[in-house]
Amino acid sequence: MPDRPRPAAKRPRSPRAGLAAVARDAAVCRRCDLWKRATQTVFGAGPRDATIMFVGEQPGDVEDRAGEPFVGPAGRLLREALAEAGIDAETVYLTNAVKHFKWRERGKRRIHERPNREETLACRIWLDSEIAIVQPRVLVALGAIAASLILPKAKVTRDRAKPFTSPLAEIVTVTVHPSSILRAPDSESRAEARRQFVKDLRNIAGMARQPRGS
Ligand code: SF4
Repeated sequence: MPDRPRPAAKRPRSPRAGLAAVARDAAVCRRCDLWKRATQTVFGAGPRDATIMFVGEQPGDVEDRAGEPFVGPAGRLLREALAEAGIDAETVYLTNAVKHFKWRERGKRRIHERPNREETLACRIWLDSEIAIVQPRVLVALGAIAASLILPKAKVTRDRAKPFTSPLAEIVTVTVHPSSILRAPDSESRAEARRQFVKDLRNIAGMARQPRGS
């Protein structure tokens, strides 16, 4: 893949900038080394005026090839759980804390590797821009990596679906990443983790429906 210049953006785009303009900048980002082994930048997707924004960790193998967030197995689980919780997936904004797939080789497979702190912080400029443009009322971290950026005082298991105030959004909260449900050791614990996740999403839907200032 040819080396291309870093984008000019040094700080999050203003709310006047469009998501497409930020996505174009992110597509040529070289702020950390993760672009070198990934297929492409996977930017967020969803309506510009979404009330709820979900922030995952990073694209997976399927997302890396497709160039879209949450279209692999964990994304399918998220979309099913959203439907069960009464949230139309088409109305929410879905993105990740880190926009390139980090992986290691195991045989013919590309195995997910957790982004480190340096990579996560390098990438936050894009997430900050998405938040500034979409201005979601409810901002949801899916898992610990996203929580470390948008709700660092929270612990995922202790604080799941609890509402916090933040300069980033009227309500910021956290729940598990759907991939953790897929990794549950047996079908019984997977079913229980899924039930808990849908319950969290129902609570999050309730937060989005609350009258403002309540
Ligand atoms: S992971 Fe983020 S910061 Fe690193 S190159 Fe990709 S878009 Fe840029």
